[in-house]
Amino acid sequence: MHTSSPIVPILWKAVLADLITDPDELCDLLGLSELDRTNIKKTCEGFPLRVPRSYLSRVKAADPQDPLLLQILPRTEELISTDAAQLDPLQEQQFSPVQGLLHKYHGRVLIVLSGSCAIHCRYCFRRHFPYEDARIGKTQWQAILDYIAADSSISEVIFSGGDPLNSTDASLAAKSADLSTIPHLKRLRIHTRQPVMIPQRVNSQLLNWTSEIRLNVVMVLHSNHANEIDHHVKEALFKLRDNGISLLNQSVLLKGINDNAQVLAQLNERLFECGVLPYYLHMLDPVQGAMHFEVSKERAMQIKTDLQAMLPGYLVPRFAIEEPHALNKTTF
Ligand code: SF4
Repeated sequence: MHTSSPIVPILWKAVLADLITDPDELCDLLGLSELDRTNIKKTCEGFPLRVPRSYLSRVKAADPQDPLLLQILPRTEELISTDAAQLDPLQEQQFSPVQGLLHKYHGRVLIVLSGSCAIHCRYCFRRHFPYEDARIGKTQWQAILDYIAADSSISEVIFSGGDPLNSTDASLAAKSADLSTIPHLKRLRIHTRQPVMIPQRVNSQLLNWTSEIRLNVVMVLHSNHANEIDHHVKEALFKLRDNGISLLNQSVLLKGINDNAQVLAQLNERLFECGVLPYYLHMLDPVQGAMHFEVSKERAMQIKTDLQAMLPGYLVPRFAIEEPHALNKTTF
């Protein structure tokens, strides 16, 4: 359903309050009469449907194989459990010295700022994450600040989630200001899918606090397919770039969605047009409910070879595997 309407100054909170959560509505809006709605509803029980309407405008109507639809459509394959699949494939809970903070790699820590997202990606490796146990109140925030202040090897903080930009700008500005007072911190990295999902999220408040803090701001976006990046998204990304934010992208290699070099070349060309450099292409983390998206390593290596033949090196992302106890991601 390709529509092109001018972007209106709508509050991102209003967009979030009007997400599509009902599978019947999703199928009706896209003219997907042939899909088994009972099965879709059953699959939603474990991980509910959540889709912004603006994302749906980028999905092709009446095409059950549309690559954007496949990322959000609950499928019965999610109910199949295999030995390889786990609830916490990266064993993240082992790396949480303080509630809401993960410290896995040298020099950087990750803060789980928000337990919610604008969209539910069916392949998400945190789809079973116990966000309630990571909730950050005033006491936990002070404990996080104390932990970072006590370790001078930490130079970078990553805001993650869920989607950290689901938090209000007032909260993000206050937290960033607190972090800026820690002298050994140099960078704030924000891992977010929000500017791609809801371009209205890139508002003046966000641009203000990110330009006012002492820390260098890096934003790592998450886009898997060129069709996600329409002209509204492009405008939002230009605003971020013009505000001095370094923009990178990470994708997940997903069967039936972007597992060929042509599709990835289009994505990375499109990202570069919007001021974004490709960073990582992650192999799927083996999370329960998402194994039908898995692409074999052999196939991934072939895709990489093909991609290298099509693009300059700076547009080829690093293919990466994350393992629970490795000191860094394994790239190939
Ligand atoms: S936006 Fe990120 S954290 Fe949220 S469901 Fe998608 S992949 Fe998971």
